[in-house]
This record gives sequence, C-alpha cells and structure tokens, in this order.
Amino acid sequence: MKTIIKSFSEHGTFVQPEAMDYIFSKQNPQEFASQLINNLKEYPLVLTVDQIKTIEEQAQPKPTINKQELQEKQAQNELLSQIYHPTPLQKALFNPDEDLIDDEPEIKLITTQKKQYPVPKPTKSWKPIAKKYQSDIQIIKDITGQSTCEGTTQDFAKLFQNRCQRLKKILQTQRRELANVIPINRINKSVMEEVQLIGIVKNIRTTTNGHRLIELEDETGSALLMCLKNNREVFQLAQEVVLDEIVGVTGSLSKHGDLILLNNIVFADISIQNNKNKASDPICAAFLSDIHIGSNKFLHEEWNMFLQWLNGNVGNTRQRHVAGSIKYVVIPGDVVDGIGIYPNQEKELDITDIYEQYEELARQLHLFPDHVTIILQPGNHDAVRPAEPQPTFDKEIQKLFKDLDIRFIGNPCYFSLHDVEILSYHGQSLLDFATNVQYLKYNEPIEVMKLMLKKRHLAPTYGGYTPLAPEHNDYMIIDRVPDIFVTGHVHISSLADYRGVTLINASSWQAQTEYQKMLNFVPDCAKVPIVNLKTGAATLMDFSKNMLSS
Ligand code: FE
Ligand code: ZN
Repeated sequence: MKTIIKSFSEHGTFVQPEAMDYIFSKQNPQEFASQLINNLKEYPLVLTVDQIKTIEEQAQPKPTINKQELQEKQAQNELLSQIYHPTPLQKALFNPDEDLIDDEPEIKLITTQKKQYPVPKPTKSWKPIAKKYQSDIQIIKDITGQSTCEGTTQDFAKLFQNRCQRLKKILQTQRRELANVIPINRINKSVMEEVQLIGIVKNIRTTTNGHRLIELEDETGSALLMCLKNNREVFQLAQEVVLDEIVGVTGSLSKHGDLILLNNIVFADISIQNNKNKASDPICAAFLSDIHIGSNKFLHEEWNMFLQWLNGNVGNTRQRHVAGSIKYVVIPGDVVDGIGIYPNQEKELDITDIYEQYEELARQLHLFPDHVTIILQPGNHDAVRPAEPQPTFDKEIQKLFKDLDIRFIGNPCYFSLHDVEILSYHGQSLLDFATNVQYLKYNEPIEVMKLMLKKRHLAPTYGGYTPLAPEHNDYMIIDRVPDIFVTGHVHISSLADYRGVTLINASSWQAQTEYQKMLNFVPDCAKVPIVNLKTGAATLMDFSKNMLSS
C-alpha cells in the first residue's frame, strides 16, 4: 500500500480514500496502479474513483471492424436502402420473376395444419411471490396525446431549436471544456485563439486526403470544422459524429481563418457513475421484444415453453422462483408482424389481417398469469403512425385487450416500475447509427445504445431509415438517465452495463425471415432478459432450446 501511495504522492497527487479502496479491490493493486500512472495525462491534485474509472474506460480497446466485416456491412447497407425505399425496380430485386408491369399477382397462402399447444395453467402448489405486490407504474415521458406537429417546415425549425437548446444546456452545465462557448457569428477571425462552439451538425464528409470536414450551425451562422486524420483521438470522435446531432467542439482558427482545426469534440454523455434506483419489493421485470404475431416464422414451440415457465409449470426450483417473481412483462414493439411492411411480406404471413393479428396477440397475452402487468409499446411493424416518436395504439386496438392488466405506451417512453426508471425504445434508428458510424455493426446493438447515451439522443438523423415527426418538443432526447435502457428491432439478445445503466436488447420470437437471410442477419431468438428490480441484477432465460426441465 505504501509503495502505491508513494508513487502518487511523489508527483504531488493525493489519492482519495475511496479511490484507494477501489485500487485495492483489484486483483493486483500494484499492477493496476502502475497502469493508471501510465495512462494519466497529468497528475491531478486529488485522484478520485471517477477519474480512475474514466481512465479504465478509455484504456479499454475500442470496437473495431475488419475488412471482411466492412464489406459485408456495405452489402447490407445497399440492401437495406433498397428495402426501406423500394422503387418498382428495387422491389423487383426481391422477386426477380415478378413481372414489373403487371399488377400484384394474387397471393395464395400456404396454410399449414396448426399444432395445438397445451394451455398453460398454473399448478395449485405454485405460490408466485409477485402476486403479493400491487403494480406501480408511472409514465414519465410519452408522446401519446401530446403530438403537436403538422409536418410543416416551421415544425422542423421548432424541433431543431428545441433539440439545440436542451442539449446545449446539458453540454454547458456538465462540461468544463465548454465554459466559454461563443455564438458562431462572434468568431473573431483576426485573433487566432481557441474557440468553443455548440451547434447542430449540418454536413459531414471526408476530404480526398482522408480528413473529416464537419459543417456546424447555430442560430447565428455556420462554421467549417476540419479534423485532421493524424489527430487520432479526435479523428476517432469525428467518425462518431452523425448528421443533425448537437455537439460541442473546441478548435483553433486556420491561418486564413476560413476553417477551424478541431482539438476536441464534446458529446453530452452521461456521467461516469450512475447509481441505480432500486425497488423495495423483491420483484422482476421481463423484456420480450419483437413477438411478430402473424408471421409464419413465429416460434410457437419456444413461446409455448416460455408460457409454461411463466406459469410455474416447468424449470428447476430456481427457475420457477424467478418465474414467480415476474411482476411485469415489457414488450418494446413489433408486437405483431403487421402487413405491407416490406415487399412480399404477405408470403411470410400466417395471419393476413392486422386486427386478427392483434386478436391473436391478446389471446396469447391472456395466457400470462393474472398477477403479471403487461406494458405494450409499438414498433415499426405495428399499426400506429410510422414516424417517431410514435403515439401508442389507438382505441380500436386497445379494446381488443380490455380484460388484461395492460398499459399502452408510446415509442419511445420513459416510465418507472416501483421507482426503477426505464427508457424503452423499439430501436429503428439502431440501423441508422450502424450505417453512419463505421465501426458499428448491425448485430451489435449494445455498442449503438452506448453511443446513443453518449450523444443523449435516440435518433438524431433526419432522412435515414427512421422516419421522424417534427414534434416541437424533441422526444428522442435522452435528458434523463434511466436505470434500464431497452431496445428491440434487431432481434438480438444482449445484456450489458454502461456507466451504471443496464442495457438490454430484448431478442425476438420470430425465426430468420427471408429478408434477414438476404441481409445475412442471424437473429438470436427466444431469449428473455430479466431484471430484478430490487437488486438491479440482470439475467437471461433461454427458451431457444429445450433448456428447462419439467
Ligand atoms: Fe422486429
Ligand atoms: Zn422493428
């Protein structure tokens, strides 16, 4: 211990007692301390736990993408843009035999004999602990009933103004680097000193020499920012910048005063350590995304196994105990497969009527135990307005679920379960981020979600895959730091932690579709992430194989 203290105090650094405890919680404190020292840019007066964690985080290898992965991603990009903006010619790519001039051919459904599954009924001896507790849901932020936009250009101006003001406030209150921000029209071209700016990214491109050029705009004007490729650290940040987002920058004026050479790019990021809110009751929430009822790829067997488990009929003692502690099931979108979502979808549907799809979903949700409260959110396959933020399901759909303990929310939505705050977002923009940021991959939603938190925004880019409605209040801003952040859409199951926030991508109940096959997307189906709301611990239950013993 003495040698560690000495190695810091020799440089005039006092190590906070908590920081010392943290160093000693490591397997090899001595080695950890010398790594810290190697990574210190300068010796601070006081070394805190937060600083240590920042150094640790920065020392972690950045996600990378190799050449082969990059090629595959480019192929996926191309296909995706065809799917999401299909012109007749592009549509033909899905079905080369289809005659372009003819009307849509009549679609004949192949109806397979439906297998009958036993209706799960809880056994009498099963005593689920969740039954003892009343549900406690607070909706914190939701577009439902609050929509103001009519889609005019003024609406867009208001949206971007609102985004700018709110993120500027977060940036300025949190980041010392931006204490002296000036409006763009106040840049004094005759004085070559450091300038600090906050604005919206209007354009980004790579120059022929491989440098990044960013056009930043605020309400007073616009400036051209250049990030040199040999400035590694800033260049990495510049590659994370996407269109229409709000960033802070510091830089110095170029010789001619026409460019600003970037020294730093500052994102609004969440603080390094966030303490989780905890429920006082020993209950859990389960997350099931992308059920896609109506699809002929719906995983009946796995779903049925899940229902049996949720009703306490299968699993070992521990698994049954977890099942009994589930008070909430959160469903973050694509609850049904919908109709006409992508070309030739009809060929992959078992149920071709949208209302019948919701009716079937209601039938399935009726098989949940009575003490479970359901939270239902729409996604891009659902029958709500496609532009995000999406208000929740209309009354006609809601009434199909009238006998259930169910709450309908918009997309995205902030809500709390027994004081544990959840940000639930279906996740259509995961694809936009993966397309626009080179190192991100379509099948690694967690890395994208970290970047969303870092940018404090769910979907900044207008004109990508994610249709955005110009609401006067930007509902896609992450201005509250949730305890749990959940997405779906990419049909992957993953669990992670970013600065104290539990990140979840909530799997899917649909096997690989033709369209996913073309994109080489391999879904990770029939997994259920579960969070214990009292302890914050997260686990994954796997129904993809016959894992449970009955
Ligand atoms: Fe989906
Ligand atoms: Zn989706």
